Amino acid sequence: MLHEKLSSIYDNVLRRNPGEIEFHQAVREVLDSIGPVLGKHPEYAESKIIERICEPERQIIFRVPWMDDQGQVQINRGFRVEFNSALGPYKGGLRFHPSVYLGIVKFLGFEQIFKNSLTGLPIGGGKGGSDFDPKGRSDREVMRFCQSFMTELYRHIGEYTDVPAGDTGVGGREIGYLFGQYKRITNRYESGVITGKGLVYGGAQVRTEATGYGCVFFVDEMLKARGTSFDGKRVVVSGSGNVAVYAIEKVEQLGGLVVACSDSSGYVLDEKGIDLELLKQIKQVERGRLDTYAQRREHATFVPGRSVWEVPGEVALPSATQNEITGEAAAAMVAGGLVAVGEGANMPTTPEGIKVFQEAGIAYGPGKAANAGGVATSALEMQQNASRDSWTFEFSEQRLQEIMRDIHDRCLSTADEYGMPGNYVAGANIDGFRRVADAMLALGLI
Ligand code: GLU
Repeated sequence: MLHEKLSSIYDNVLRRNPGEIEFHQAVREVLDSIGPVLGKHPEYAESKIIERICEPERQIIFRVPWMDDQGQVQINRGFRVEFNSALGPYKGGLRFHPSVYLGIVKFLGFEQIFKNSLTGLPIGGGKGGSDFDPKGRSDREVMRFCQSFMTELYRHIGEYTDVPAGDTGVGGREIGYLFGQYKRITNRYESGVITGKGLVYGGAQVRTEATGYGCVFFVDEMLKARGTSFDGKRVVVSGSGNVAVYAIEKVEQLGGLVVACSDSSGYVLDEKGIDLELLKQIKQVERGRLDTYAQRREHATFVPGRSVWEVPGEVALPSATQNEITGEAAAAMVAGGLVAVGEGANMPTTPEGIKVFQEAGIAYGPGKAANAGGVATSALEMQQNASRDSWTFEFSEQRLQEIMRDIHDRCLSTADEYGMPGNYVAGANIDGFRRVADAMLALGLI
């Protein structure tokens, strides 16, 4: 009966959102977990909470015209999906990548609702972005694009309404240009309107590191729950952006050995452990590609065009993009001695891959729990902005670690409560869902 109800909700989502395959996948993954909750809480079904959660509160699509360095007019498409504000202002990043379309933004926004709920902090869920490709663009082009993007977005956001941040392709540089334009148009120094700001103009300590550090803290808890730790573990990371770099940094601090990381051109294998300073120099300062890492470090090899998941490791931290771990890759990882997976990226594992991990009894931490440290620290940034205060690095990192431990423990205890011990997917989905559902019930028909 319940199953039937959920599958009819899912069919409806398919029908109402044609072609948005990533969004369908994200909805499916949550609906697959929450059947047992409806059994305990008939009031959720009676007031159509799930149907309402699957429909964004507001979707904004806009034109972003800008001029390139050759004086040519360029046109991109901008998005902001304000998905759910039951727990607080919409909160979620902006992604600039050529693959961005409404289906990607909706999948990310949908995930964000439950992720943000899991943090226990007062933030709703939203996401935005553009199909603009910052790769190969000059600083001035990126600035002009960001200014044009904000010239439309500013009217939809605000510290009590919707608070964007970064995601793929949107880092400190872009956040600066976006905030600068917001400030100029509105004539308001409204720091809490965007997070991920630079430290000199209202940013928070640890925000840059938070997603990567938080993911490693989460995995550390999963390992502890199994009586082990990072010490001496062989770790494979995908990606080499902001999440990957700080995940590597924290793994190294906790005594693990990161032997591989990747970018869109291939992966680098470094059995002596990734040299973090060199990686930061190449990726953050030079904005270059990973093949130059191997050219500068003798014993390292660069493997072009292949998946980093062919490298065996005991811990895997997928920190690149969605659907990078297929069922086949997951099976090879399990055969290579995998113990734990912590998703630094959003939805990096396909449904087939998740099945393989779960059947093999791997400690599998889904993105909405494992990478919640980024948005949680954004909420801490909002807190500091609202009180016109700034916290030390040590205090901020300690708060992040507590938040990640709390999310981990709630995932486990919720999974236990519903008779699925060790199932972090069920724990995260159920716990994240319940809080949003209860708030929606309390707020009336919204
Ligand atoms: N883009 C990040 C995420 O996927 C951070 C969002 C934020 O800080 O608002 O959670």
